Amino acid sequence: MIYRDYGKTGKKVSVIGFGGMRFGKDEDYSAEVVRKANELGINYFDTAPFYCNDRSEFIFGRAFKKMPSQYYVATKSSVRKEDTADKVRWRIENSLERMGIDKINFFHMWCIMDLQQYQKVMEPGGAYEGALKAKAEGLIDHLVFSTHCKGEDIRKIIEDNVFEGVLLGYNVINHPYRQEGVDAAIEKNIGVVTMNPLGGGLIPRNEEFFSFIRERDGENSSQAALRFNAAQKGITVVLAGMGTIEEVEENIEVVKHPLIVSENKVKEIKSKIGEELNSLCTTCGYCLKCPKKIDIHNYLEAYNLMILDGKEAMEKHLKWLKETGSIKEDAQPKACIACGACEELCTQKLPIIERLNEISAVMK
Ligand code: SF4
Ligand code: SF4
Repeated sequence: MIYRDYGKTGKKVSVIGFGGMRFGKDEDYSAEVVRKANELGINYFDTAPFYCNDRSEFIFGRAFKKMPSQYYVATKSSVRKEDTADKVRWRIENSLERMGIDKINFFHMWCIMDLQQYQKVMEPGGAYEGALKAKAEGLIDHLVFSTHCKGEDIRKIIEDNVFEGVLLGYNVINHPYRQEGVDAAIEKNIGVVTMNPLGGGLIPRNEEFFSFIRERDGENSSQAALRFNAAQKGITVVLAGMGTIEEVEENIEVVKHPLIVSENKVKEIKSKIGEELNSLCTTCGYCLKCPKKIDIHNYLEAYNLMILDGKEAMEKHLKWLKETGSIKEDAQPKACIACGACEELCTQKLPIIERLNEISAVMK
C-alpha cells in the first residue's frame, strides 16, 4: 500500500480508501470485508449516516471491534438535515455511538452543493459552529467538507481556510469540471479525497466503451480509472466503494503497479472526454425527491446510453427497465411538472427536465 500525507494533519492515509456505501445484506460478512481491507493496508474508512439504508456506520462499528491494524474513520453530517449546531452535535454523538468509537478522525460537512449552502453552514449557530465545538472537546480530529460544487466554487470555500480537507467527486470523466478545486487544495496544502472514481458505476457498467482509459496489460477499465485518480497531483485518497473481498483485492491490485498515466494517454483521454461525457448521470440518486415519484436516476441512466451509444441503446434500456419493474407505470417522464426540485439537488447539475422531455418523446 502507498500512504500519503493528508494535508497538514500529520496523518498518513492509504491512497485507496474504503467507501462504505456498497455493503450487501450480510452484516457479518460486510464487517469481514472491512477488516480484510485493513489487513491489506487500507487505513482510511469513509462512511455516512444513511449509507446502505442507514446500516453502514453500524457495520463499521462491528468491524472496528476487531480491526487488525491502525485505521482512520471519516463520517459526515448532512448540511441539509443537520443545519444547526445542536443537530450536528446530536449527529456526532450518534455516529460515535453507532461505531463504538470515541473520536471521528475526519468529520465532513456533507454535500455542499453551492456557495449559498456553504454560507448557511457557516452562519452563527450553524453546522460548522457545532462541529468546531465538538472538535475543541476532542470528539473530532479534523473538520473537512464534501462537495459537488463546480471547481471555481470549491476554490472559494478552500480559500476561506476553515477546512483541513475536501471530499469531491472526481474521475476520468468529470475531472476538468473539478480541477480548479484540486488546484486550490494543492495551493493550501489540504487533503483531497476523491469519491465516485468509477463515475457512480458508469465505467464498470460500460467496460468496453471505456476501454480507451486502460493502459496497463491485464487491467480492467475500473482499475484504470482508480489509477487515473491516484496518479493526479494533489489527490490524497481515492475512495472506492467495496462490498466483497474480491472487490477489495481488485482495488488493492491497482497500487501494486506504478501510479502513473503516460502523457500520451492523458492526451487521448482529454480528446475523448468532451462536454458530453461530463454530462453523464452518475445514478447517485440525490435527486430522488420528486413529487411525482419519477425514477429519475433510472431514466437518466437510459439517457446516458444514448450519449454513449445512440438512441437505440437508450430504447433498449428503457424496455429493460420496464420489463424488470425498475420504473413505475404511473410515474413516467410525461408526469413531470417541471417543478425543478430534482435539478436543484442534482450533483452533476444536469438538465433533468429537458432530458425527461426527450425520453418522454421517445417513449411515445
Ligand atoms: S422537475 Fe419533474 S422530475 Fe424533477 S422533481 Fe419536479 S416533477 Fe420530478
Ligand atoms: S440526475 Fe443528477 S442527482 Fe440524479 S442520479 Fe443523476 S447525477 Fe445523481
